[in-house]
Amino acid sequence: MTDILPGREAMMATYSPPDIAFEKGEGSWLYANDGRKYLDFYSGIAVCSFGHAHPHLVKALKDQAEKFWHCSNMFRITETEKLAQRLVDNSFATKVFFSNSGAEANECGLKILRKYQESKGRPERKRIIGFHSAFHGRTIGTISAAGNPGHTAGFVMEDEGYDHVPYGDLKALEAAITDKTAGIIFEPVQGEGGIRPATVEFVRGIRALCDKHDILMMVDEVQCGMGRTGKMFGYEWSGVEPDVMSLAKGMGGGFPVGACLANDKAAAPMIFGTHGSTFGGNPLAGAVGNAVLDLMLEKGFLQSVTDKANKVRAELEGLIAKHPKALVSVHGLGLMIGIKCVVPNGDMLLELRKQGLLCAKSGDNQIRFLPPLNVSDAELDAAIEIFDRACTALTA
Ligand SMILES: *Cc1c(COP(=O)(O)O)cnc(C)c1O
Repeated sequence: MTDILPGREAMMATYSPPDIAFEKGEGSWLYANDGRKYLDFYSGIAVCSFGHAHPHLVKALKDQAEKFWHCSNMFRITETEKLAQRLVDNSFATKVFFSNSGAEANECGLKILRKYQESKGRPERKRIIGFHSAFHGRTIGTISAAGNPGHTAGFVMEDEGYDHVPYGDLKALEAAITDKTAGIIFEPVQGEGGIRPATVEFVRGIRALCDKHDILMMVDEVQCGMGRTGKMFGYEWSGVEPDVMSLAKGMGGGFPVGACLANDKAAAPMIFGTHGSTFGGNPLAGAVGNAVLDLMLEKGFLQSVTDKANKVRAELEGLIAKHPKALVSVHGLGLMIGIKCVVPNGDMLLELRKQGLLCAKSGDNQIRFLPPLNVSDAELDAAIEIFDRACTALTA
């Protein structure tokens, strides 16, 4: 195949994209430069929470772009302080640190877990417990926290201070807590390792263990936060609150912005000079973050996510019954949906794309369905029809 663009060889080989490049996006649709159009249920991996080129988000970015782009956190930033206040008003947290990405939001949180113990006179408590099949990003710290050998190989020295136990296993977790443990990091709904929501008992169990040992509970909501599950944050389903939370993906609707939120107890040791970022929470990020929140906090919006999720889940169950040779089961919470396949998920992904639907892969041989949160019922129906055709094509 001839290359459609001039620069593939100049790109570091960490990705292997197909020969598709987009020229335009509109709502749930992406238009490629070969004239094809795709229904985008990849959403840039759960990032484009309001699809492409949403007028309210475009306006917020343009308006700020014409004022000024950047000034660093050495000065107060109106839009960013407003965003911090709104995140605080709508969560367990009292303090926010802004980053550019999910991994950086997690780095801030992981530092907090350790700093908290030091501030309590327990500097030996530096170890952090994570879970199998987790994903927290690609920095040295976050690959160590997740412990996926495919990601750590060649990059980390020894264990970097992280322990790992099976997701959902409270007994193993309790056994792993020692007098060296600083805190626990987990995803309320696992994303990359196969879509897997934590049970309410598991989250409550983690909370109880953290309280018992005076260690901090950190939730990585980079993927499941910001309305994706039908609540603003995934932890809300459990009825208990974390001490620390990371956010990113859906937060800027496609503009890079992340945040680490904390309660007073966890944030107290993060005094002047303990952490920083040049770009984190700059005026553009603040403006777009507020625009996303404007839409997300509209009355009835989160309920509409749940309603759409219930509708599409029921339709997916129907497809599973119809195509037992192609599909096994549907998983997830809200519009964070994983469909476990019988056929290799890579084959399914290709067939869906051929038929005009973009989805993501996940672990456990799943296809991830991550539509924009404002997807229409007609677009959900169109996606189900494509899925139906793809199953037929793959098992005929
Ligand atoms: C994507 C993701 C990250 C990493 O975010 P980046 O912006 O790629 O650094 C961290 N945690 C979870 C749960 C994610 O899904």
